Amino acid sequence: MLITNNLGYPRVGPFRELKKANEAYWAKKISAEELLEAAKSIRKNNWKTQKDAGIDLIPSNDFSFYDQVLDLSLTVGAIPARYSSLLDKIDRKYNLDLYFAMARGFQEEGVDVTAMEMTKWFDTNYHYIVPEFTKNQEFKLTSEKFLNEYNEAKSLGIETKPVLIGPITYLLVGKEKEADFNRIDLIDKLVPVYEEILSKLAEAGTQYVQIDEPFLALDIDDATRALYGKVFEKLAAAAKGIKLIVATYFEALADNEETALNLPIHALHLDLVRGDQQLNTVLAKVPATLTLSLGVVEGRNIWKNDYEKSLALIKQAVDALGKDRVWIAPSSSLLHVPFDLDNEDNEESLPKDVKNWLAFAKQKLTEVKDLAILADGEVDTETAERFEANKAAAESRRTSPLIHRPEVKQRTANITDDDAKRTSPFPQRKAAQQAKFNLPAFATTTIGSFPQTKDVRKWRADLKKGAISQEQYDKEIAEETERTIRLQEQLDIDVLVHGEFERNDMVEYFGEQLAGYAFTKNGWVQSYGSRCVKPPVIYGDVYRPADMTVRWSSYAQTLTERPVKGMLTGPVTILQWSFVRNDQPRSTTTYQIALAILDEVQALEKAGIKIIQIDEPAIREGLPLRKADQKDYLNWAVRAFRVSSSNVDDDTQIHTHMCYSEFNDIIEDIAAMDADVITIETSRSQMELLDAFAADFKYPNDIGPGVYDIHSPRVPSTAEMVELLRKAKAVVPAEQLWVNPDCGLKTRAWPETKAALESMVEAAKILRAE
Ligand code: GLN
Ligand code: ZN
Repeated sequence: MLITNNLGYPRVGPFRELKKANEAYWAKKISAEELLEAAKSIRKNNWKTQKDAGIDLIPSNDFSFYDQVLDLSLTVGAIPARYSSLLDKIDRKYNLDLYFAMARGFQEEGVDVTAMEMTKWFDTNYHYIVPEFTKNQEFKLTSEKFLNEYNEAKSLGIETKPVLIGPITYLLVGKEKEADFNRIDLIDKLVPVYEEILSKLAEAGTQYVQIDEPFLALDIDDATRALYGKVFEKLAAAAKGIKLIVATYFEALADNEETALNLPIHALHLDLVRGDQQLNTVLAKVPATLTLSLGVVEGRNIWKNDYEKSLALIKQAVDALGKDRVWIAPSSSLLHVPFDLDNEDNEESLPKDVKNWLAFAKQKLTEVKDLAILADGEVDTETAERFEANKAAAESRRTSPLIHRPEVKQRTANITDDDAKRTSPFPQRKAAQQAKFNLPAFATTTIGSFPQTKDVRKWRADLKKGAISQEQYDKEIAEETERTIRLQEQLDIDVLVHGEFERNDMVEYFGEQLAGYAFTKNGWVQSYGSRCVKPPVIYGDVYRPADMTVRWSSYAQTLTERPVKGMLTGPVTILQWSFVRNDQPRSTTTYQIALAILDEVQALEKAGIKIIQIDEPAIREGLPLRKADQKDYLNWAVRAFRVSSSNVDDDTQIHTHMCYSEFNDIIEDIAAMDADVITIETSRSQMELLDAFAADFKYPNDIGPGVYDIHSPRVPSTAEMVELLRKAKAVVPAEQLWVNPDCGLKTRAWPETKAALESMVEAAKILRAE
């Protein structure tokens, strides 16, 4: 029988039990012991679920209270010095408080330490805590979590495979906190801790250990490549009989094939979803001693596996290596998919047909087992039935009218270069828009949302529950919108917004109104710490059956003489923050969304809304991991934005907004989007980020660099903002500048919002007078 191998399992619990326990512990509502108990029960359930599904290699040490990279920092003793000050102030019995202080900061009993930085785990929406390294960094085994969890499972009668992030990947995902050294040079100090870990596990009787080295599937330099062989020689020696598995994922090995295949290990895991072609080249090079773990069941998306397709790959490998040296696995850890499709029962938001095309973590375990049985050949009736059901589901997905709308496909295929280009170049448009709006220099605006107060959220919840009628809800929203328009007039802001009170979330709001979208009830995926997101599911061809935003935007416009800016989410961001189809290229789905947004843009235009913002905060995060693929992505992503914003009048002013940093390497692509105005987040970097717009390449269109940070309730002074605007004026010509906050104001309260905007408008007026 082919061995089944799982790389990692989601750990927040099917109903976010861990989130609730963590937050209760932080609020001091439950004890450390109660939190540990909650965690134990999640682990037990996870292991049992995997065992019951017939998984042979079940991971342990994949559990985490907050983040597995932070766990490793604690394990190897990479604890930044600033936390030592609180060591005697906190409960050290379980080290939980030190751990959470590193994750979230600590502000109690006169101690005030900041949290460690957080960033995205490769191209996922999971955020890890970035390890901090100093020049004289020392490592020391400080926690035995890996051993405790292994023993805990063992005492439940379950043999597990501890999972560790590999030493090279661990260093590479970290950050130097001092100048004049390279963190990868710390490897010789770090490896001994791994040797100690392995020898402890060997002593405990561990048979397999999985070491994750995703960098083997990424762009690395020759020196790093050479390091892999050396490091794994040492680890193999320390492993004393443990079979080492190296896991790669999120990309194909490509130029690292030779390196990865020749490591002195028992098995190598390949992502055959992202790297679906790599088997062809890999199989010819596999040494006789190496086993391959085939990642055929997608760990990053929620679609049912196509058994026939997977079996073809498996057969290819079995023919070359034999059944003993081929394992079946998900492509990556299942951390990135929701728990259990069986908990979905809302047919209105997730129709039965659509549900039949999906598989969450638990279902994916069954798929892995089914594939092992089917590949083996001795098939029981139940598996045979599931194979038939799988074929039927795949067939229905290929042909279902729920998915396939010929007119949408046709329209997307017919997009021309003219559709992706404004009629006139920017200077001409700018003149036409100036004639129309007659805005002052340093025109002021906001990014869209105004405070989503408790009341606003309650109206929405009440409407959902049926506690208030649609009319009552609309009336509340209308009044809140009117108050917000009046306030903006009173503040003397130039381009107003309606406030986005009717929206729950900037993607969900549109998803709910677009055809081709479904929603889950419990499809939570960990984003960071206790934070989870529930991405909507794009299952079919996307189009816009009716107006989505016209009503509230035009209502707001009836209230005022000043221009009200229409507010939309862009195609790339809608794609990026959803589970997307795997039966067509991402670019095709994005173009379909772009056309739906264009329809809305034109409807707004027709309704007299002539300034329209299309938010694209996620453009950068869609960037492929391998450099070689990035240009192609940027080309279609930028083009899709242009499709959504081009077929409009010259005097319609298109804004876009992005709230991330670092534009340097993609500034020409940002410029190619050709929005008339772009607003960006710049205040926290003291306008330094603006330099990207004024380097060798001069950004040609208008720019609104954020003049204050909306993430904090702090009210900035007029003088501060004047200072920032003067800095901006020094790098970007004054005629190109707008004045606005960093991002939307939905997380803020009203008093600080009013005060900050008042100062902002004053700052703009001071600049105008200069
Ligand atoms: N228009 C959105 C808002 O103001 C933009 C949010 C974002 O950039 N993430 O809330
Ligand atoms: Zn933003």
